[in-house]
Amino acid sequence: MSDTDYDVIIVGAGGAGLAAAIEATDAGARVLLIEAGARAGGSTALSGGVYWAAGTSLQRQAGIEDDAESQFHYYMTVNQYKVDPALVRRYCDLSAPTFEWMVGLGVNFPLENLYVSGVDKIRRGHRAEGHGAEIAEVLEGALSGRSVDLATHTRAEGLVVEGGRVTGVYVDGDPIRAGAVIIASGGFGANRRLWAELYPSAAKQGELAWYIGADECRGDGLEMARRAGAELVGHDRGLLLMTPGFAHDVESYLPPWVVHVNHEGRRFIDESTEYSVLSEVLSTQTAGECFAVFDEAARAEAKAHPAPNWAADRLAEFAEKGPVVRADTLTDLAERIGVRPAALVTTAERYSEDARAGHDSAYFKDEGHLRPIETPPFYGVRIRPAIVCWTGTGLRIDAETRVRDQADRAMPGLFAAGETTGGFAGPCYAGGGASVGNAVIFGRVAGANAAKLALS
Ligand SMILES: Cc1cc2nc3c(=O)[nH]c(=O)nc-3n(C[C@H](O)[C@H](O)[C@H](O)COP(=O)(O)OP(=O)(O)OC[C@H]3O[C@@H](n4cnc5c(N)ncnc54)[C@H](O)[C@@H]3O)c2cc1C
Repeated sequence: MSDTDYDVIIVGAGGAGLAAAIEATDAGARVLLIEAGARAGGSTALSGGVYWAAGTSLQRQAGIEDDAESQFHYYMTVNQYKVDPALVRRYCDLSAPTFEWMVGLGVNFPLENLYVSGVDKIRRGHRAEGHGAEIAEVLEGALSGRSVDLATHTRAEGLVVEGGRVTGVYVDGDPIRAGAVIIASGGFGANRRLWAELYPSAAKQGELAWYIGADECRGDGLEMARRAGAELVGHDRGLLLMTPGFAHDVESYLPPWVVHVNHEGRRFIDESTEYSVLSEVLSTQTAGECFAVFDEAARAEAKAHPAPNWAADRLAEFAEKGPVVRADTLTDLAERIGVRPAALVTTAERYSEDARAGHDSAYFKDEGHLRPIETPPFYGVRIRPAIVCWTGTGLRIDAETRVRDQADRAMPGLFAAGETTGGFAGPCYAGGGASVGNAVIFGRVAGANAAKLALS
């Protein structure tokens, strides 16, 4: 391959890489899109396809008044400003235009899929009809007719750096050169070695933890940019979902009718709270864990929705062979699961009284989710934040997606977008859809800027 074959090389064909490829070619660049996997899509294609945005045409259709300003204020506040405001501002300014861009390309976001995906009250979660697979397919489909070479089964191994500038990537030991490189290789969820270094909250769960994203997302981009001098940001960030570890599959939700108690035997949250917040609050409890407790009547009524492993028959199985613990009295149960017995009895009495009255006087959970804890046998199962959904530690970029080095200078020729970057993801996952948003929005910015640089 000659030195001048491409203007822009993009590493990774998930949401960020595909969006970048479209923008870069629309700006006139010849693009090579390298994908390690058998096909494009990455974790984006596996995702729920929720996109977090404010001020969209769909919101207006639903009669919702919303704008970038209030979205920014919410995101910064809920993350206590422990994020890069410039990135957040850029996200918020571009979330609605990028939504319209995806719709223009053909992604279908039905009105009934607009919902509250954050911890506020505004419907900003836009779920694509065909989930993440649809977003990835539409973006990939948009490549046809554009000057993009998509090379699957092709893994970038390192960056070519010449004269202080990133001029290409190595594939199979050979350099491929371009005017600019965009790293869009996703997170490092599939790399346990990196968990130990960058995501200790996941690493400390040991064998209980598992990852549900794309296999190829091993943090390659992050490592290759780091070797070239890039700075990482956002230590120990990501999304861990709470789980009893019944099965190693995608269990985004625990049923809202269970009661979570900590080692002190006390409740600590409304159990129906948004999953992103539940995990964060759980991690501050003793030993970073809790126990989901319920009685026989609640077990017998349990349905497969929203958590299939929590259906009545499955729970009976788990009580036989573990990990659910069954006991004839609450005191026995407490002793066996390692919770203060007297406090658990008090918690159950108060909760049962509230359930009968239809009013949760402690945490104000919706009355539809209240079930007394009074009919033996009683059940308890340990819950930990242990499903790695996405990782949030990554390359430091600025609002133009230029990768910053350890002296906080833009690294010439190098851009990055999506889960491979840090600084946008905060301690709280402020809105379901903000990761697909992070990928597509900043992928577009990276594509346009890389093309501009390469063609200048
Ligand atoms: C089950 C699940 C559900 C989710 N649901 C949602 C949701 O509804 N909304 C939301 O906002 N977020 C969701 N997320 C998170 C979100 O999907 C991701 O954070 C986001 O899509 C990442 O996009 P990306 O383009 O940065 O990375 P990816 O889409 O993962 O793409 C990265 C690509 O880079 C490739 N790659 C990696 N290394 C190399 C290399 N060395 N050379 C070449 N290619 C390489 C990978 O194979 C992959 O195709 C979910 C995640 C999971 C796992």
